Amino acid sequence: MLQSTLFSKTRKEAPSDEVSKNAQLLVRGGFIHKEIAGVYTYLPLGLRVLNKIENIIREEMNVIGGQEVFMTTLQDPEIWKKSDRWDDEKIDNWFKTKLKNENELGIANTHEEPLAKLLTDHVNSYKDLPLYVYQIQTKFRNELRAKSGLMRGREFLMKDLYSFSRTEEEHKEFYEKAAETYKKIFDRVGLGDKTYRTFASGGSFSKFSDEFQTLSRAGEDTIYIDEKKGVAVNKEVFTDDVLAELGLEKAKLVEKKAIEVGNIFPLGTKYSEAQGLLFRGEDGKDKPVVMGSYGIGLGRVMGTVAEVLSDDKGLIWPLSIAPFKVHLIGLSDASDLYNKLKEAGVEVLYDDRDLQAGQKFADADLIGVPYRVVVSERNAGSGKFEFTNRATGETKEITEDELLKM
Ligand code: ATP
Ligand code: MG
Repeated sequence: MLQSTLFSKTRKEAPSDEVSKNAQLLVRGGFIHKEIAGVYTYLPLGLRVLNKIENIIREEMNVIGGQEVFMTTLQDPEIWKKSDRWDDEKIDNWFKTKLKNENELGIANTHEEPLAKLLTDHVNSYKDLPLYVYQIQTKFRNELRAKSGLMRGREFLMKDLYSFSRTEEEHKEFYEKAAETYKKIFDRVGLGDKTYRTFASGGSFSKFSDEFQTLSRAGEDTIYIDEKKGVAVNKEVFTDDVLAELGLEKAKLVEKKAIEVGNIFPLGTKYSEAQGLLFRGEDGKDKPVVMGSYGIGLGRVMGTVAEVLSDDKGLIWPLSIAPFKVHLIGLSDASDLYNKLKEAGVEVLYDDRDLQAGQKFADADLIGVPYRVVVSERNAGSGKFEFTNRATGETKEITEDELLKM
């Protein structure tokens, strides 16, 4: 892509109303635009990152047998009344609306109820199970505070998968597989070494759940990590009993701030019973389906990467989710190399703008593309270019061939 055609502009100063580092950097770099607090539009650069995160998650969900759907945002209150979650006392961040005839509708904050209800049309016998259904869809939550940029949106994209199993045992087997897959996803998006599977409370669903927490000073959660074992416990369930159950020693745990990037829950039969999602067992008896839910916030992942993998000059994208692989800085005409890179299938952003070198370098640092390649009068004829790795700062000379093969 030619940078001269990119409509989003970088800005030197962060907007004064953005307090979080992720929003400051992402707004300054032209990745997102703030509509109102907690509500962001993804601009071309930001959408490229979001789409890459989405594809990684989708690939991994498909590997474990997930079937993708796209559910509606408008929801029938009757379904929610059956599980006693329509009341604002039960879910305090509902957005609700009304039809012209005054009938109420819910605006999706999660989808356990509608999906359990949907499957009553499709699940009859034990032969139809287990099933894993997921979507990547917008959720709306009337969050009290929305000062954390992409990490706490009032409108945000979530991958939510729901598992439907015949027995607790079958459920548990998938639950552990999903936890492994979550590890893989956070590895792939570049958060692996900072992200801990964390024992947490189950909220409204069950006694316990597992969160995936990424260490960051900007985190809202406090967790206690066992670095050796690579696991953690959320402060909300940090008791002697829980530690004993998990085989963790208090003295070996370190207190840290962290961001919840994902959360998986055993749901038991609460929602299947409420919606009448039963299956006929091999013994001819009807039983409620055992459910689990598995969420990841895509924007929260992006915001977390911006938060933990940046420096004072700007963003530092891991290759796997970077908007481009190469930022080609043309201090003289670099269209020849640009065309070759494009033909070789390399995702390249070519800074062909008529600006001072210093301005181009500052923007490249801010935007955070992994590899920077400079074409100047000095190296134009030599077939060699200056190559800088944004993450390590390492600079070297690279030939055109090496670059095209990278
Ligand atoms: P939190 O404790 O941070 O409020 P939650 O426990 O309510 O989140 P879940 O309902 O389990 O979140 O949602 C699954 C995932 O969706 C979370 O792990 C997080 O990654 C993401 N998520 C939740 N709320 C938001 C939000 N307001 N903005 C962006 N992502 C969110
Ligand atoms: Mg949570």
